[in-house]
Amino acid sequence: MYLSKLNLNYFRNYIQSEINFSSNKIIILGNNAQGKSNLLEAIQLLSCLKSHRTNKDLDLVYRDRIYGEIKGEITRNYADYSLSILFPAKGKRELKVNYEKISRNIDFLGIVNTVLFSSLDLDLVKGSPEYRRNWVDNLLLQLEPVFSYIIKEYNHVLKQRNSLLKRLKKQGITNYEDLSQTTILELNIWENKLIENACRVMRRRKRVLDKLEPLARLWHDKISNKTEKLEIIYHPNVTYDRDDIQEIKQKIQREIEDKRNTELLMGVTLVGPHRDEIEFVINKSVARNYGSQGQQRTLVLSLKLGELQLIEQIIGETPLLLLDDVMAELDLQRQQQLLDCLGNRFQTFITTTHLNYFDERLLQEAQIIRVEKGK
Ligand code: ATP
Ligand code: MG
Repeated sequence: MYLSKLNLNYFRNYIQSEINFSSNKIIILGNNAQGKSNLLEAIQLLSCLKSHRTNKDLDLVYRDRIYGEIKGEITRNYADYSLSILFPAKGKRELKVNYEKISRNIDFLGIVNTVLFSSLDLDLVKGSPEYRRNWVDNLLLQLEPVFSYIIKEYNHVLKQRNSLLKRLKKQGITNYEDLSQTTILELNIWENKLIENACRVMRRRKRVLDKLEPLARLWHDKISNKTEKLEIIYHPNVTYDRDDIQEIKQKIQREIEDKRNTELLMGVTLVGPHRDEIEFVINKSVARNYGSQGQQRTLVLSLKLGELQLIEQIIGETPLLLLDDVMAELDLQRQQQLLDCLGNRFQTFITTTHLNYFDERLLQEAQIIRVEKGK
């Protein structure tokens, strides 16, 4: 997969820029706050229609302009695609593929695949469970675009059920037995939908982590010289033994029944994949608690290289790799390992404030783009 051109119009601090890419290695060079990460963010948006830095389109639009636009030209499977996202500061986005309007996100997602590795990713180990859930979900979005509907539906149902529980809490109802027949019916409707979508989300998260684990482990072996063994453990909020839809749904149902009165008391939904946890274990110890900074970096690097490989295996195309400020986070040995592992197969975009990290050979083959004040 190869991105040949990017146009940014009133996007972040870019007013109007056209950037042509002519290499598989692109170094985006500039001082702080010039627009390096913004450029990677634009590529990420073309890929998953989401930014890892904001979920408000208003933030993406240049100052007080009323709209912003990102356009990209990409080649995959020997076909060329022209993509564009027009986002008003307020209101609905307009998506186009090959100059034709697209009404469903799902028809846009999956054309550009990316793996982003930024200094923020170190939070994957130390950060909140939500951070890890988002990470898996973003990977799923790329592998199965239909997941965007599933997670959206799940979040919608969760919100509806939560507001019902909150309303009941306000009314002082803390016992299921005290609910009126109509409220029970209403609760049932949301519960059935919750169970259906919870099961979909959980099965997919499990499936993707099962596939990622051996790949990430191999990279981890390589980087740590086989001294440490990596495990990725998925802890669904409702545990189940077999990948059997009926069994999983029954377990969720039972858990909801058990927790109903506590949920009424607290006014929130306590059961479901919004409370899943993902754990990284190195040599039988939970990385979050015992990992040194260096171990955590090795871990995140292995996860990212595993993601890259998984996407390539499933999609049959090499995803774009976006490395935002990571060189500064890695020691010399890991920097070199990362660059060596990539070879020349993946089109790689690397942001940096200076060129000291790169060897002569890389500097010769790379395209260096200087960014200054959004230009
Ligand atoms: P660093 O090296 O510190 O990571 P960077 O080059 O990656 O810097 P970016 O995050 O790409 O910096 O860009 C930040 C700049 O973009 C800041 O100057 C910020 O004020 C500006 N900026 C962000 N959003 C907008 C917006 N909506 N309109 C105008 N400028 C914006
Ligand atoms: Mg940056």
